[in-house]
Amino acid sequence: MATVLCVLYPDPITGYPPDYARTSLPLLTGYPADRALPTPAGPLGFKPGELLGSVSGALGLRPYLEEHGHRLIVTSDKDGPDCEFERCLPEADIVISQPFWPAYLTRERIARAPKLKLAVTAGIGSDHVDLQAAAEAGITVAEVTGSNCISVAEHVVMMVLALVRNYLPSHEIAVDGGWNIADCVSRSYDVEGMNFGTIGAGRIGLAVLRRLKPFDLRLHYTQRHRLSPEIESELGLTFHPDVRSLVQSVDIVNLQVPLYPSTEHLIDAEMLKAMKRGTYIVNTARAKLVDRDAIVQAMDSGHIAGYAGDVWFPQPAPRDHPWRTMPYNGMTPHIAGTSLSAQARYAAGTLEILQDYFSGKPIREDYLIVEGGGLAGTGARSYKLT
Ligand code: NDP
Repeated sequence: MATVLCVLYPDPITGYPPDYARTSLPLLTGYPADRALPTPAGPLGFKPGELLGSVSGALGLRPYLEEHGHRLIVTSDKDGPDCEFERCLPEADIVISQPFWPAYLTRERIARAPKLKLAVTAGIGSDHVDLQAAAEAGITVAEVTGSNCISVAEHVVMMVLALVRNYLPSHEIAVDGGWNIADCVSRSYDVEGMNFGTIGAGRIGLAVLRRLKPFDLRLHYTQRHRLSPEIESELGLTFHPDVRSLVQSVDIVNLQVPLYPSTEHLIDAEMLKAMKRGTYIVNTARAKLVDRDAIVQAMDSGHIAGYAGDVWFPQPAPRDHPWRTMPYNGMTPHIAGTSLSAQARYAAGTLEILQDYFSGKPIREDYLIVEGGGLAGTGARSYKLT
């Protein structure tokens, strides 16, 4: 019998939903590039479209785990020395957490979890786990690669349009009973013809480029490995050998790289200075890719025209986090990858990982971040320990 400790965000303040805006989800046949959707065995413990990422939804794992004699603890109490997560860690064989409400698995916490063998990220992005410490402790880290890429790509497209067209302040004027068109449009532009650049054109970054192509933007990217000539020509991409070259050339900067030690503060005060006046920044990747206060200063001075993102540090963000109130921000809480559609996929992927783990089968290579004392699978391709 294993103890599975699952940290999820709290239920809605109005209570767990009795029904939903829609009755079903579209049926997908796969991810882009023919990658396979999750393939858990047997029935799912949930109906796709239900709220699974909050405590009462329990990722739909309860029926499977309890039928197989395992103990499932679900909590949202994850921070501070006396939180339920810390109290239960010493008994946990498996920890499950979501990036939206991350249970930070630090070196200190790992030291207090002698039985821990598997840390699953229900979603994508395992930077809330100290990967080096997990590797040293022989813990396997796995995430549901691919599960919410399109969800995030759609969020990015929404944020690009919202910033450039000045949607959010205009919406507020409408809600407040106003009709002052000049206030709305004095910061509103078309994206057509603008230069858009993504730092990272992996699963999400490439999906963003594909979705923006019909808007007739000029598309740029940078990453360590170049995309194929076929993709570059299909999308008319301009490749930049480094981040500085990209940010100097574009009107909209999108961040889509994982966070690891050498990508922390990739966008600092110097890099912001290199951007053109009036650049927009979208960051759905990770907050620590940018220098928090340098962003605030660049926004206050008007050098950056807008910053939209849904990633913060720490999470949940404190009430006085300056990104909540800086001018022309388009922030959301961390929700891009946890639409009801995404939840159905990453809950199914989490179930698949648990089933493989308990039956001694190898976890899908694409899902692995750390295994056998080092980076593995997607982890070896996307992360660095330094
Ligand atoms: P991928 O691994 O598919 O893509 C990441 C890309 O970043 C790769 O193509 C990689 O290319 C590039 N990259 C990595 N390091 C660098 C570097 N130092 N400089 C330039 N490029 C680099 O990941 P995904 O697209 O699936 O996800 C990206 C990130 O998005 C996740 O790690 C996560 O943090 C975030 N995310 C956010 C979500 C949300 O809800 N907001 C949900 C899901 C993910 P190369 O190796 O050639 O450099």
